[in-house]
Amino acid sequence: MTEFLIHSKRCFIDNQFIEATLHIKDEKIYQIFNGTHSKENTPILDYNNLIVMPGIIDAHVHINEPGRTNWEGFDTATKAAAIGGITTLIEMPLNANPVTTTVNVFKLKQKASTNKLHVNCGFYGGIIPANSNDIEDLIKAGVFGIKGFLIHSGIDEFPNVTKEHLETIAPILKKHDIPLLLHCELNDDDVPEVNNPKSYREYLYSRPQHWETNAIDLALDIQKRFDIKVHIVHLSASEGLERIKKRKQITNKLTVETCSHYLYFNAEGIPDASPIYKCAPPIREKVNNDLLWNALLNDEFNFLSSDHSPAPPEHKQLESGDFFKAWGGISGLQFTLSLLYSEGKKRGLTLEKLIPLLTKNPAQFLGLDHQKGNLQEGFDADIIVWDDSKEFTITENSIQHKHKATPYLNDTFFGKVIHTFVNGVQVVEDSKLRTLQQGKLLLKTNILI
Ligand SMILES: [Zn+2]
Repeated sequence: MTEFLIHSKRCFIDNQFIEATLHIKDEKIYQIFNGTHSKENTPILDYNNLIVMPGIIDAHVHINEPGRTNWEGFDTATKAAAIGGITTLIEMPLNANPVTTTVNVFKLKQKASTNKLHVNCGFYGGIIPANSNDIEDLIKAGVFGIKGFLIHSGIDEFPNVTKEHLETIAPILKKHDIPLLLHCELNDDDVPEVNNPKSYREYLYSRPQHWETNAIDLALDIQKRFDIKVHIVHLSASEGLERIKKRKQITNKLTVETCSHYLYFNAEGIPDASPIYKCAPPIREKVNNDLLWNALLNDEFNFLSSDHSPAPPEHKQLESGDFFKAWGGISGLQFTLSLLYSEGKKRGLTLEKLIPLLTKNPAQFLGLDHQKGNLQEGFDADIIVWDDSKEFTITENSIQHKHKATPYLNDTFFGKVIHTFVNGVQVVEDSKLRTLQQGKLLLKTNILI
């Protein structure tokens, strides 16, 4: 079925819910009609009161293939994405092995994804101390941004960079108008000694807010001096908000995201010896996370992402309970919409505010906003249909990620994705995978403006 109609009384178009009929043809939203509409010989999928909106764009995902496919992989990650209503994701340059720091590795990664993409997928390249000379080639090969760490990344193949490395590549990023994505933690010795590695509180105190603000100050300095696009990934420290807000009043080249787990969990609710919750920067106290929510409600975040970063149970130290030995990363790609909607409802977050943070805004950041992120004539038919009144509980059976260990297990959410369309093909029907391999590999350089 390459041509069909989708009708709902609640289509999210131009930032509001209206009754409309979408005419899907040849992978695109060909036409949009107000109200109901029919066309001879064209099937109509009538979704009545269910929400019809653009597919989610998750600009921060770790898939770990090739080399650490036992951690996740394109097949399982993009199946989970489709079930969760994510129709486009961008993969980080780590933790695959090798890491995406040269064009040859970038090609290897593209090859590894062949026949395994169930949603659209693009890639970032990485900056490490040794590859300043590879950055321009990576950009020319089609990465959507260059990601770097200012602190040990967790894997030795992806060492952190310093201010000097960033200064070296800044003119290249400026020339190509490509964003620099920074993991903003910059460590110093101003941390308490660790006595009990199973204590969440001790883990939290080992990565204090000022590490984030140290790094943000460096990021803002680079942004200002070189007038380049800088993106702060996964902000966790509310102490960073004010300086970001101030700089954003002067430039639109600074952007910031936060992730599901910083908005959903609080340190007070994390038991000791449970490194399933470990990520970096850490999930902080409720008083901090309430400030992140205030910032979200005040439009201070450009978009939201999952930072899906899974690892096998043995790397998560689930048995030992040692926060300091455990891999830092939370698995939860599949639940982004439901958990943000459920938690947001309690805090007055409207869908009119939430949906663009997951669709239009990341599309804009990635330079995809002329073809994705909105229900608009001529745009790619990446569409999801979901039931905001449906309650469901996360069970191991429902998880499509490779590893079922996730801190969201057994939690109950509102808002279930029922159908997912990728490039005009129904990939998920009644919350089950139907047609596979419909995702496209996205290269920034191939995007027609
Ligand atoms: Zn990440």
